[in-house]
Amino acid sequence: MGREIKRVPIDFGAPLNEVWAGYRMSDDLRLPTCPDCNGYTRDATYQWVEGIAQLLLMVGEDIADQQRGRPLHPYLSALTVYTNQRPADPSATALSGGLAGRHPRGWGHDAIDCYSATKAIIEAAGLDYETWAVCTGCEGRGNLGTPEQVAAYDAWERSEPPTGDGWQLWETVSEGSPISPVFATSDELASWMSDPAREQHWVPGHVAAQFIADGWAPTFVSTPETGLVSGVEFVGTTEGGER
Ligand SMILES: [Zn+2]
Repeated sequence: MGREIKRVPIDFGAPLNEVWAGYRMSDDLRLPTCPDCNGYTRDATYQWVEGIAQLLLMVGEDIADQQRGRPLHPYLSALTVYTNQRPADPSATALSGGLAGRHPRGWGHDAIDCYSATKAIIEAAGLDYETWAVCTGCEGRGNLGTPEQVAAYDAWERSEPPTGDGWQLWETVSEGSPISPVFATSDELASWMSDPAREQHWVPGHVAAQFIADGWAPTFVSTPETGLVSGVEFVGTTEGGER
C-alpha cells in the first residue's frame, strides 16, 4: 500500500486522482444487499449463538480481569443472577480456551476465537456448520440478483491499465489512482517527484530515482533510525545508502 510506478502508454489519459475505472466495479453490476440478513449471510439465530459464544469467551477473560482488579463487564453482570453473585473461577479459562482452540492472550480472545467458539458450539449440537442457519433469503450470498446478474457479478475482475513506454506515479492507498502526468523517461518522472512544487509529496532526486528503480514503496515507514518517513523516502534512504 502506498505508491507505485506504472508503465502506461505515453498518451494514457485516465483522470488523475481518480480510481482507475478498471479497479472499480460499475454500479450496474453491483447487487442489492439481502434485506433478510443485511449482507451478513446467516440468519438471526446464528448471530444469537455468536453472541452467546462471545459471552462464554468473556467469562474466560474475566479471570484475568479479576486479577487486574477490573470490575465485571456489564454483559456478565447481568448473568450473575444465575450464579448467586459469585464471580467465575479459573476453570472458566479452560472452557473458553477449549471452545476457541486457544487460551486468551493479551487483551483476551479475539474475533477469530469467537468464530472458532461459535463453530464449536454449532458442531457440538451435531449441526453442519456450513449449512446450518444460512440465510434463506440469499442462500448465504449476502446479496440478491437474478442468476444472470449473479454470474456477471462473480465474473467481474479488476483490469489493469494498458501498458506502454510511459512512466507514471500511482497511489495505491485507495484501489489505485494515477497521480502524476505520464512521462517519456524515468528521469523526467524523478524530476517531477523531486520538484519542490510537490510540497508534501516532494522527495530528494536520488530518492525518487531509487524509488523508480525499485518500483514500489509503502506510504509511510517507521524505523528507529529514520522515524516516520514517506515510503518513497525510506526506499531511497535505505537502498540508496544516503541520508
Ligand atoms: Zn440474506
